[in-house]
Amino acid sequence: MEKGGLSVTQAAAVARVIVAGERDACKSHGIYRIEGVLRTLKAGKVQGAAEPYVVPGAKPTIVRVNAAHGFSNPAFELGAPLLAERAKQIGIATLVINDCTHFAALWPEIEALTELGLAAMALCPNYSTVAPAGGTHPLLGTNPFAFGWPRPGRTPYVFDFATSMVARGEIELHRRAGKPLLLGWAIDGGGAPTTDPEAALAGALLPFGGHKGSAISTMIELLGGILIGDLTSNESLDHLGTTTLSPSHGELIIAFSPDAFSSGRDGDPFARAEALFEAIAGQGARLPSQRRFDARAKAESEGIALSSAEVELLNRLLDKGLDAVA
Ligand code: NDP
Repeated sequence: MEKGGLSVTQAAAVARVIVAGERDACKSHGIYRIEGVLRTLKAGKVQGAAEPYVVPGAKPTIVRVNAAHGFSNPAFELGAPLLAERAKQIGIATLVINDCTHFAALWPEIEALTELGLAAMALCPNYSTVAPAGGTHPLLGTNPFAFGWPRPGRTPYVFDFATSMVARGEIELHRRAGKPLLLGWAIDGGGAPTTDPEAALAGALLPFGGHKGSAISTMIELLGGILIGDLTSNESLDHLGTTTLSPSHGELIIAFSPDAFSSGRDGDPFARAEALFEAIAGQGARLPSQRRFDARAKAESEGIALSSAEVELLNRLLDKGLDAVA
Protein backbone atom coordinates (compact mmCIF):
# COMPACT_ATOMS: atom_id res chain seq x y z
CA MET A 1 0.00 0.00 0.00
CA GLU A 2 2.92 2.35 0.64
CA LYS A 3 4.24 1.47 -2.80
CA GLY A 4 0.84 2.53 -4.16
CA GLY A 5 1.11 5.91 -2.47
CA LEU A 6 -0.54 5.56 0.94
CA SER A 7 1.21 7.21 3.88
CA VAL A 8 2.39 4.98 6.73
CA THR A 9 -0.49 6.29 8.89
CA GLN A 10 -3.09 5.27 6.31
CA ALA A 11 -1.44 2.04 5.16
CA ALA A 12 -0.71 0.71 8.65
CA ALA A 13 -4.25 1.26 9.97
CA VAL A 14 -5.85 -0.34 6.88
CA ALA A 15 -3.35 -3.21 6.99
CA ARG A 16 -4.17 -3.96 10.63
CA VAL A 17 -7.82 -4.54 9.67
CA ILE A 18 -6.89 -6.67 6.65
CA VAL A 19 -4.57 -8.85 8.75
CA ALA A 20 -7.31 -9.21 11.39
CA GLY A 21 -9.70 -10.30 8.61
CA GLU A 22 -7.29 -12.97 7.38
CA ARG A 23 -6.52 -14.10 10.95
CA ASP A 24 -10.26 -14.50 11.74
CA ALA A 25 -11.05 -16.28 8.43
CA CYS A 26 -13.09 -13.31 7.20
CA LYS A 27 -11.70 -13.55 3.68
CA SER A 28 -14.22 -10.99 2.44
CA HIS A 29 -12.21 -8.40 4.41
CA GLY A 30 -8.79 -9.93 3.84
CA ILE A 31 -5.96 -9.25 1.43
CA TYR A 32 -8.16 -9.38 -1.65
CA ARG A 33 -9.38 -5.94 -0.52
CA ILE A 34 -5.95 -4.36 -1.06
CA GLU A 35 -6.72 -4.05 -4.77
CA GLY A 36 -9.91 -2.13 -3.96
CA VAL A 37 -7.96 0.17 -1.63
CA LEU A 38 -5.45 0.90 -4.40
CA ARG A 39 -8.20 1.29 -7.05
CA THR A 40 -9.92 3.89 -4.86
CA LEU A 41 -6.58 5.70 -4.44
CA LYS A 42 -5.84 5.54 -8.16
CA ALA A 43 -9.29 6.98 -8.97
CA GLY A 44 -8.44 9.95 -6.73
CA LYS A 45 -11.35 9.17 -4.40
CA VAL A 46 -9.29 8.88 -1.22
CA GLN A 47 -6.43 11.05 0.03
CA GLY A 48 -3.50 8.69 0.51
CA ALA A 49 -1.54 11.04 2.77
CA ALA A 50 -4.49 12.31 4.84
CA GLU A 51 -3.83 13.03 8.52
CA PRO A 52 -7.01 12.64 10.57
CA TYR A 53 -7.56 15.23 13.29
CA VAL A 54 -9.78 15.74 16.31
CA VAL A 55 -12.22 18.57 15.60
CA PRO A 56 -12.20 21.01 18.54
CA GLY A 57 -15.31 22.42 20.17
CA ALA A 58 -17.61 19.38 20.25
CA LYS A 59 -19.76 18.58 23.34
CA PRO A 60 -18.05 16.40 26.00
CA THR A 61 -19.99 13.27 24.93
CA ILE A 62 -19.00 13.75 21.29
CA VAL A 63 -15.48 13.07 20.06
CA ARG A 64 -15.44 14.24 16.45
CA VAL A 65 -12.60 13.11 14.22
CA ASN A 66 -12.26 14.37 10.68
CA ALA A 67 -10.63 11.75 8.48
CA ALA A 68 -9.52 14.47 6.03
CA HIS A 69 -10.81 12.29 3.17
CA GLY A 70 -8.51 9.44 4.09
CA PHE A 71 -9.59 5.98 5.23
CA SER A 72 -11.81 5.54 8.29
CA ASN A 73 -9.32 3.26 10.04
CA PRO A 74 -6.65 5.79 11.14
CA ALA A 75 -9.45 8.18 12.16
CA PHE A 76 -10.88 5.47 14.42
CA GLU A 77 -7.45 4.73 15.89
CA LEU A 78 -6.99 8.42 16.68
CA GLY A 79 -10.43 8.85 18.28
CA ALA A 80 -10.87 5.53 20.12
CA PRO A 81 -8.68 6.31 23.18
CA LEU A 82 -10.50 9.64 23.67
CA LEU A 83 -13.86 7.95 23.23
CA ALA A 84 -12.97 5.32 25.85
CA GLU A 85 -11.72 7.93 28.31
CA ARG A 86 -14.91 9.99 27.99
CA ALA A 87 -17.20 6.94 28.19
CA LYS A 88 -15.49 5.88 31.42
CA GLN A 89 -15.74 9.41 32.86
CA ILE A 90 -19.29 10.25 31.78
CA GLY A 91 -20.82 6.77 31.34
CA ILE A 92 -21.56 7.21 27.64
CA ALA A 93 -19.71 8.88 24.78
CA THR A 94 -19.76 8.85 21.01
CA LEU A 95 -17.12 8.93 18.32
CA VAL A 96 -18.16 10.65 15.11
CA ILE A 97 -15.94 10.06 12.10
CA ASN A 98 -16.55 12.52 9.25
CA ASP A 99 -15.24 12.77 5.70
CA CYS A 100 -13.79 9.29 5.45
CA THR A 101 -13.51 6.63 2.82
CA HIS A 102 -15.02 3.78 4.75
CA PHE A 103 -13.15 0.54 4.76
CA ALA A 104 -14.09 -2.92 6.00
CA ALA A 105 -15.79 -4.63 8.86
CA LEU A 106 -16.87 -2.97 12.12
CA TRP A 107 -15.91 -5.73 14.57
CA PRO A 108 -12.22 -4.70 14.88
CA GLU A 109 -13.42 -1.32 16.16
CA ILE A 110 -15.95 -2.88 18.53
CA GLU A 111 -13.31 -5.24 19.93
CA ALA A 112 -10.89 -2.35 20.51
CA LEU A 113 -13.53 -0.92 22.89
CA THR A 114 -14.67 -4.16 24.58
CA GLU A 115 -10.99 -4.77 25.39
CA LEU A 116 -11.17 -1.60 27.48
CA GLY A 117 -14.20 -2.87 29.40
CA LEU A 118 -16.81 -0.91 27.45
CA ALA A 119 -19.97 -2.02 25.64
CA ALA A 120 -20.09 -0.47 22.17
CA MET A 121 -22.14 -0.03 19.02
CA ALA A 122 -21.00 1.04 15.57
CA LEU A 123 -22.97 1.81 12.44
CA CYS A 124 -22.57 3.54 9.11
CA PRO A 125 -24.28 3.92 5.74
CA ASN A 126 -22.71 2.61 2.54
CA TYR A 127 -23.91 3.40 -0.99
CA SER A 128 -27.37 2.72 -2.35
CA THR A 129 -27.79 -0.90 -3.38
CA VAL A 130 -30.78 -1.88 -1.20
CA ALA A 131 -34.45 -1.05 -1.77
CA PRO A 132 -36.58 -0.24 1.28
CA ALA A 133 -39.09 -3.05 2.07
CA GLY A 134 -42.04 -2.50 -0.26
CA GLY A 135 -39.94 -0.23 -2.51
CA THR A 136 -38.68 -0.73 -6.05
CA HIS A 137 -35.13 0.54 -6.42
CA PRO A 138 -31.84 1.06 -4.53
CA LEU A 139 -31.92 3.78 -1.88
CA LEU A 140 -30.43 2.37 1.34
CA GLY A 141 -26.93 0.91 1.70
CA THR A 142 -26.00 -2.51 3.03
CA ASN A 143 -25.54 -0.45 6.22
CA PRO A 144 -23.54 -2.53 8.71
CA PHE A 145 -24.44 -2.60 12.40
CA ALA A 146 -22.22 -4.01 15.15
CA PHE A 147 -22.42 -4.38 18.91
CA GLY A 148 -20.07 -5.70 21.56
CA TRP A 149 -20.18 -6.52 25.28
CA PRO A 150 -16.95 -7.04 27.25
CA ARG A 151 -16.37 -10.40 28.96
CA PRO A 152 -13.43 -10.07 31.36
CA GLY A 153 -10.90 -12.83 30.73
CA ARG A 154 -12.79 -14.15 27.69
CA THR A 155 -13.45 -13.20 24.09
CA PRO A 156 -16.23 -10.57 23.97
CA TYR A 157 -19.81 -10.97 22.81
CA VAL A 158 -19.77 -9.32 19.36
CA PHE A 159 -22.11 -9.28 16.42
CA ASP A 160 -21.50 -7.42 13.19
CA PHE A 161 -23.71 -7.71 10.13
CA ALA A 162 -24.94 -5.98 7.02
CA THR A 163 -28.63 -5.02 7.20
CA SER A 164 -29.24 -6.41 3.69
CA MET A 165 -30.30 -10.06 3.28
CA VAL A 166 -26.88 -10.77 1.76
CA ALA A 167 -23.88 -8.77 0.64
CA ARG A 168 -23.82 -7.59 -2.97
CA GLY A 169 -20.68 -9.70 -3.46
CA GLU A 170 -22.80 -12.79 -2.74
CA ILE A 171 -25.03 -11.98 -5.73
CA GLU A 172 -21.94 -11.60 -7.91
CA LEU A 173 -20.60 -14.97 -6.69
CA HIS A 174 -23.92 -16.63 -7.61
CA ARG A 175 -23.82 -14.99 -11.04
CA ARG A 176 -20.33 -16.33 -11.70
CA ALA A 177 -21.32 -19.82 -10.49
CA GLY A 178 -24.55 -19.75 -12.56
CA LYS A 179 -26.54 -20.44 -9.39
CA PRO A 180 -30.01 -18.98 -8.67
CA LEU A 181 -30.50 -16.72 -5.66
CA LEU A 182 -32.89 -17.52 -2.84
CA LEU A 183 -36.23 -15.79 -3.17
CA GLY A 184 -36.33 -12.75 -0.89
CA TRP A 185 -32.72 -11.69 -1.44
CA ALA A 186 -33.35 -9.25 -4.27
CA ILE A 187 -35.73 -7.62 -6.73
CA ASP A 188 -35.30 -6.91 -10.45
CA GLY A 189 -35.24 -3.49 -12.14
CA GLY A 190 -39.05 -3.44 -12.19
CA GLY A 191 -39.29 -4.11 -8.43
CA ALA A 192 -40.45 -7.75 -8.80
CA PRO A 193 -38.88 -10.53 -6.68
CA THR A 194 -36.18 -12.39 -8.61
CA THR A 195 -33.83 -15.37 -8.24
CA ASP A 196 -31.79 -14.36 -11.31
CA PRO A 197 -28.41 -12.82 -10.27
CA GLU A 198 -28.18 -10.69 -13.47
CA ALA A 199 -31.67 -9.27 -12.87
CA ALA A 200 -30.82 -8.67 -9.21
CA LEU A 201 -27.64 -6.76 -10.07
CA ALA A 202 -29.73 -4.55 -12.36
CA GLY A 203 -32.33 -4.20 -9.59
CA ALA A 204 -31.77 -4.02 -5.83
CA LEU A 205 -30.94 -6.07 -2.76
CA LEU A 206 -33.57 -6.36 -0.04
CA PRO A 207 -33.12 -5.58 3.67
CA PHE A 208 -33.11 -8.49 6.15
CA GLY A 209 -36.29 -9.04 8.15
CA GLY A 210 -38.66 -7.19 5.79
CA HIS A 211 -40.01 -3.94 7.26
CA LYS A 212 -37.98 -4.44 10.47
CA GLY A 213 -34.61 -4.54 8.71
CA SER A 214 -35.73 -1.70 6.47
CA ALA A 215 -36.43 0.45 9.55
CA ILE A 216 -33.08 -0.43 11.17
CA SER A 217 -31.30 0.42 7.93
CA THR A 218 -33.18 3.73 7.76
CA MET A 219 -32.13 4.45 11.36
CA ILE A 220 -28.51 3.89 10.27
CA GLU A 221 -28.96 6.43 7.43
CA LEU A 222 -30.32 8.89 10.02
CA LEU A 223 -27.76 8.31 12.81
CA GLY A 224 -24.69 7.42 10.74
CA GLY A 225 -25.40 10.00 7.99
CA ILE A 226 -27.79 12.84 8.69
CA LEU A 227 -27.30 13.13 12.50
CA ILE A 228 -23.53 13.47 12.15
CA GLY A 229 -23.74 15.84 9.19
CA ASP A 230 -22.36 13.37 6.69
CA LEU A 231 -23.50 11.60 3.52
CA THR A 232 -26.41 9.16 3.29
CA SER A 233 -26.00 6.09 1.07
CA ASN A 234 -27.80 7.86 -1.76
CA GLU A 235 -25.58 10.94 -1.48
CA SER A 236 -22.50 8.75 -1.23
CA LEU A 237 -23.38 7.00 -4.48
CA ASP A 238 -23.99 10.37 -6.17
CA HIS A 239 -20.63 11.58 -4.89
CA LEU A 240 -18.71 8.48 -6.04
CA GLY A 241 -20.71 7.65 -9.17
CA THR A 242 -19.91 3.94 -8.89
CA THR A 243 -20.23 0.97 -6.54
CA THR A 244 -16.82 -0.39 -7.56
CA LEU A 245 -14.75 1.81 -5.22
CA SER A 246 -14.76 2.15 -1.41
CA PRO A 247 -17.58 4.52 -0.38
CA SER A 248 -17.19 7.98 1.19
CA HIS A 249 -19.36 8.86 4.20
CA GLY A 250 -19.12 8.98 8.00
CA GLU A 251 -19.50 6.57 10.92
CA LEU A 252 -20.97 6.70 14.42
CA ILE A 253 -19.58 4.68 17.33
CA ILE A 254 -21.20 4.74 20.78
CA ALA A 255 -19.45 3.46 23.90
CA PHE A 256 -21.18 2.67 27.22
CA SER A 257 -19.63 2.00 30.62
CA PRO A 258 -21.49 -0.98 32.17
CA ASP A 259 -20.15 0.04 35.59
CA ALA A 260 -21.56 3.56 35.29
CA PHE A 261 -24.97 2.50 33.97
CA SER A 262 -25.52 -0.23 36.59
CA SER A 263 -24.09 1.78 39.48
CA GLY A 264 -26.30 1.63 42.57
CA ARG A 265 -28.32 -1.32 41.24
CA ASP A 266 -28.19 -4.91 42.44
CA GLY A 267 -25.92 -7.39 40.72
CA ASP A 268 -22.67 -7.26 38.83
CA PRO A 269 -23.45 -6.50 35.15
CA PHE A 270 -20.60 -8.69 33.90
CA ALA A 271 -21.69 -11.69 35.97
CA ARG A 272 -25.32 -11.19 34.90
CA ALA A 273 -24.26 -11.03 31.24
CA GLU A 274 -22.34 -14.29 31.69
CA ALA A 275 -25.48 -15.98 32.98
CA LEU A 276 -27.33 -14.79 29.87
CA PHE A 277 -24.61 -16.06 27.50
CA GLU A 278 -24.50 -19.41 29.33
CA ALA A 279 -28.26 -19.74 28.99
CA ILE A 280 -27.99 -19.09 25.23
CA ALA A 281 -25.17 -21.58 24.76
CA GLY A 282 -26.97 -24.01 27.10
CA GLN A 283 -29.71 -24.36 24.48
CA GLY A 284 -27.16 -25.43 21.87
CA ALA A 285 -27.13 -22.00 20.19
CA ARG A 286 -23.79 -20.47 19.33
CA LEU A 287 -22.78 -16.95 20.21
CA PRO A 288 -22.01 -14.61 17.30
CA SER A 289 -18.30 -14.26 16.49
CA GLN A 290 -17.53 -17.73 17.89
CA ARG A 291 -16.58 -18.90 14.40
CA ARG A 292 -14.17 -15.97 14.15
CA PHE A 293 -12.66 -16.57 17.56
CA ASP A 294 -12.11 -20.26 16.76
CA ALA A 295 -10.40 -19.26 13.49
CA ARG A 296 -8.31 -16.72 15.42
CA ALA A 297 -7.12 -19.34 17.92
CA LYS A 298 -6.10 -21.59 15.02
CA ALA A 299 -4.26 -18.76 13.23
CA GLU A 300 -2.49 -17.78 16.43
CA SER A 301 -1.15 -21.29 16.90
CA GLU A 302 -0.58 -22.27 13.25
CA GLY A 303 -0.12 -18.95 11.45
CA ILE A 304 -2.19 -17.52 8.58
CA ALA A 305 -2.08 -19.66 5.46
CA LEU A 306 -2.29 -17.90 2.08
CA SER A 307 -2.83 -19.67 -1.24
CA SER A 308 -0.15 -19.39 -3.94
CA ALA A 309 -2.54 -17.15 -5.94
CA GLU A 310 -2.80 -14.81 -2.94
CA VAL A 311 0.98 -14.69 -2.51
CA GLU A 312 1.25 -13.97 -6.24
CA LEU A 313 -1.24 -11.12 -5.85
CA LEU A 314 0.76 -9.62 -2.96
CA ASN A 315 4.00 -9.90 -4.93
CA ARG A 316 2.41 -8.28 -7.99
CA LEU A 317 1.08 -5.38 -5.90
CA LEU A 318 4.41 -4.95 -4.15
CA ASP A 319 6.22 -4.95 -7.48
CA LYS A 320 3.92 -2.68 -9.48
CA GLY A 321 2.01 -0.57 -6.94
CA LEU A 322 -0.80 1.38 -8.59
CA ASP A 323 0.16 0.03 -12.04
CA ALA A 324 -1.07 -3.38 -10.88
CA VAL A 325 -4.70 -2.24 -10.61
CA ALA A 326 -7.13 -1.23 -13.33
P1 NDP B 1 -22.75 -12.61 8.53
O1 NDP B 1 -24.18 -12.84 8.20
O2 NDP B 1 -21.74 -13.52 7.96
O3 NDP B 1 -22.54 -12.62 10.12
C1 NDP B 1 -23.21 -11.69 10.92
C2 NDP B 1 -22.94 -11.93 12.39
O4 NDP B 1 -23.73 -13.02 12.81
C3 NDP B 1 -21.50 -12.27 12.76
O5 NDP B 1 -21.20 -11.68 13.98
C4 NDP B 1 -21.54 -13.80 12.82
O6 NDP B 1 -20.53 -14.36 13.65
C5 NDP B 1 -22.92 -14.04 13.38
N1 NDP B 1 -23.47 -15.33 13.01
C6 NDP B 1 -23.51 -15.90 11.79
N2 NDP B 1 -24.12 -17.10 11.85
C7 NDP B 1 -24.48 -17.27 13.15
C8 NDP B 1 -25.15 -18.31 13.86
N3 NDP B 1 -25.58 -19.40 13.24
N4 NDP B 1 -25.35 -18.15 15.18
C9 NDP B 1 -24.92 -17.04 15.82
N5 NDP B 1 -24.28 -16.03 15.21
C10 NDP B 1 -24.07 -16.14 13.89
O7 NDP B 1 -22.36 -11.08 8.22
P2 NDP B 1 -22.69 -10.16 6.95
O8 NDP B 1 -22.43 -10.91 5.70
O9 NDP B 1 -24.01 -9.52 7.12
O10 NDP B 1 -21.55 -9.04 7.15
C11 NDP B 1 -20.20 -9.41 7.02
C12 NDP B 1 -19.29 -8.25 7.31
O11 NDP B 1 -19.38 -7.29 6.29
C13 NDP B 1 -19.52 -7.51 8.62
O12 NDP B 1 -18.30 -7.55 9.33
C14 NDP B 1 -19.89 -6.09 8.23
O13 NDP B 1 -19.35 -5.08 9.07
C15 NDP B 1 -19.24 -6.00 6.86
N6 NDP B 1 -19.90 -4.99 6.04
C16 NDP B 1 -19.30 -3.77 5.93
C17 NDP B 1 -19.88 -2.77 5.19
C18 NDP B 1 -19.24 -1.43 5.13
O14 NDP B 1 -19.77 -0.53 4.54
N7 NDP B 1 -18.10 -1.21 5.75
C19 NDP B 1 -21.14 -2.99 4.46
C20 NDP B 1 -21.73 -4.27 4.71
C21 NDP B 1 -21.10 -5.25 5.46
P3 NDP B 1 -19.31 -15.21 12.98
O15 NDP B 1 -18.45 -14.20 12.26
O16 NDP B 1 -18.62 -15.87 14.14
O17 NDP B 1 -19.93 -16.20 12.03
